Amino acid sequence: MELLLILLVGVLVLGLAGGGLLLSRRSRGRVIPVPPSTPKSSLTAAASDTRTRDDEKVFEDLTRGLDLEGVDLQDTVVEEAVVEEAVVEQAVPEADLVVEPRPRFRDRLGKARGLLAGYLGSIRSRGVDDETWEELEEALIRADVGVDVTTELLDELRSRAKAEGIKDPDRLLNVLKDQVKEQMGGRDRSLRLDTGTTNVWLFVGVNGVGKTTTIGKVARQQMDAGRTVLMAAGDTFRAAAAEQLETWAERSGADFVRGAEGADPSAVIFDGIQRAHAKGYDLVLADTAGRLHNKSNLMDELRKVRRVAGRDPGNVTETLLVLDAVTGQNGLAQAKEFTETVDVTGVVLTKLDGSAKGGIVLAIERRLGIPVKLVGLGETAADLIVFDPDEFIDALFE
Ligand code: GDP
Repeated sequence: MELLLILLVGVLVLGLAGGGLLLSRRSRGRVIPVPPSTPKSSLTAAASDTRTRDDEKVFEDLTRGLDLEGVDLQDTVVEEAVVEEAVVEQAVPEADLVVEPRPRFRDRLGKARGLLAGYLGSIRSRGVDDETWEELEEALIRADVGVDVTTELLDELRSRAKAEGIKDPDRLLNVLKDQVKEQMGGRDRSLRLDTGTTNVWLFVGVNGVGKTTTIGKVARQQMDAGRTVLMAAGDTFRAAAAEQLETWAERSGADFVRGAEGADPSAVIFDGIQRAHAKGYDLVLADTAGRLHNKSNLMDELRKVRRVAGRDPGNVTETLLVLDAVTGQNGLAQAKEFTETVDVTGVVLTKLDGSAKGGIVLAIERRLGIPVKLVGLGETAADLIVFDPDEFIDALFE
């Protein structure tokens, strides 16, 4: 009898523990788990079966008679947002599920502010003399403003200081701040969305700068603002990039199109635009490859992507160059390459919260004449904000 009782209790405890596990897995919600044994290739193959007859019919109707020379549509597949649990956990920070307040520059520019603070403290402690100018020069160059732009800025400041007889260091620094704010002011930093058309925002930039993350953040923000969005995984060379985008799509509720590995990126983006147009979506966010066999290959591919994306009904309203602020002046060299290839309408500067020194913003705006439209101050969707030059300069020179 005693033995029977122990057995019964054991069975009860095991049963409860199992049920609890099941519940905790279900409470994660929204994730459609794929059996761990499912290989990646069969995931893609299975997903291609999800393209319905209706989809194909719409696609055939829309592409009939279009000039698609050089675009390989064979490999393009439309996927429902099937996401592996492991990918969800690694790729998108959990904190993204929480609605955070807008981050402030002064709280996130730790490294940049720390670097300038030492110089500014020393400058403020004396009257304006030769050493002031040397220290200012060193501070700006070390903050990634670049030698050329630093020289131009200080030449302007010197003549103003002379003309106005400025001897007080605080006043001098305020004039410098106003001078930079003036130069950065008056630029249109809004993201263009034409009503009644299939807007396409292309994201270009080298691998690792934060392109995929930025697209995910933008998708989330645009969906939250009530817009209908489709994400096209145009970087068909990296399965991880498509998986990451898929995770963001799953979380934000955006539609999603990817291609088989190595598929023609233009075809994937074109397919996404057709699908978005057929469904009356407001916006297509298109990722592009950041690395191919060589540079000219990459730039040729980008040219083609831009051409194909702009074909009716696609309306490319933004081509956003994503740059990593931590790479400093290297970012400027990258920017020159991309701007020579495609008509860049704005820059997204990521990772300003990390070890970035901040001054690269001044160099981009002054050297390239392209507005910095968005900046990344962290990894969650709320951490991507519209660039506000006044707030930025105040935080940097505080
Ligand atoms: P991609 O190769 O250009 O697509 O780069 P990813 O989007 O994969 O990003 C590379 C890494 O940078 C990831 O770990 C991102 O979480 C991280 N990242 C992207 N933007 C930011 C940002 O604004 N701040 C910080 N701290 N990390 C970022």
